[in-house]
Amino acid sequence: MMRRIAAWVTLLLLLPGTARAEWHAREAAIMGTRIAVEVWHEDPAVAAAAIDEVIAEMHRIDELMSHYKPESQLSRVNREAAAAAVPVDLELADLIVRALAFSEMTGGAFDISYASVGYLYEYRERRRPTAAQIAAALPSVNWHLVVVDRHASTVRFGLPGMRIDLGGIAKGHAVDRGIAILRGRGITHGSVTAGGDSRILGDRRGRPWIVGIRHPDDGDRVIARIPLEDAAISTSGDYERFFDEDGVRYHHIINPRTGTSASGVRSVTVIGPEAILTDGLSTSLFVLGPERGLALIEGRDDVDAVIVRDDGKVFYSKGLAPP
Ligand code: AMP
Ligand code: MG
Repeated sequence: MMRRIAAWVTLLLLLPGTARAEWHAREAAIMGTRIAVEVWHEDPAVAAAAIDEVIAEMHRIDELMSHYKPESQLSRVNREAAAAAVPVDLELADLIVRALAFSEMTGGAFDISYASVGYLYEYRERRRPTAAQIAAALPSVNWHLVVVDRHASTVRFGLPGMRIDLGGIAKGHAVDRGIAILRGRGITHGSVTAGGDSRILGDRRGRPWIVGIRHPDDGDRVIARIPLEDAAISTSGDYERFFDEDGVRYHHIINPRTGTSASGVRSVTVIGPEAILTDGLSTSLFVLGPERGLALIEGRDDVDAVIVRDDGKVFYSKGLAPP
């Protein structure tokens, strides 16, 4: 009898398409970036349904917050909020409130109103604003002039010409939403990635997940490997969207004080409990630089960071420093 049961179990494991515990993975292109979802579940149908829901959630967030989509709520805010308070979903209002908290925390290094000058850059077309255009737009880069009424769920700008963009935290938010969906479906091992932002649920069935930090100039070279369980990790790099001109790299992370691409750093990786936190901090640290950036990280007990300076020197926060 025992032997017959054993043979039956073996057959089940060998039959293709039969329910068996394994990893299920999918990739998609959403929010202008690569989305990857991986889950472990004994039932492939449960895994597929969970992945479907995560992908649908990414599309939903993109529809709400994309500045490429004229009909998104964010685009409507950018068109109308200088004239009148614009009603938005509470999710968007809350995300903007969260962004303003990052501005407060970083002394304005993180500022979603960077977009008031940021939209003048077109990296693919190698287009950038003149010094005069930057000077004219710079007064509108001021997070104090972004006013959210959480009660009424509205957003209002203090100056005409202001624009906001959530590219510095929206992917982290989407990743956290994805993990919440997996958890809600009873999944205990998985990962969700949106571009440079990932979050890991559980371990890789008895071992940690190993996440590599790439070399800023070579996507195939890894400068550090970090074992992770139940954690989020975000990397901001000057190689994501950029063009080079006369030895200067014009890239997508803007110093709100100058209106030009932040200099001195090639990449920043932050590890912490939630992707919205690591996403916001990685962008912030890129602007702050190694010294002020690490001071911010060491002042908290929930995050670590790896910073690659433009001369190649790598800085680790105390929690990661090699012995
Ligand atoms: P990340 O890839 O998460 O570092 O985010 C980079 C994105 O953040 C850019 O593509 C912009 O959408 C946005 N961003 C750029 N500069 C800033 C800034 N100083 N504060 C907030 N968001 C920014
Ligand atoms: Mg970020």
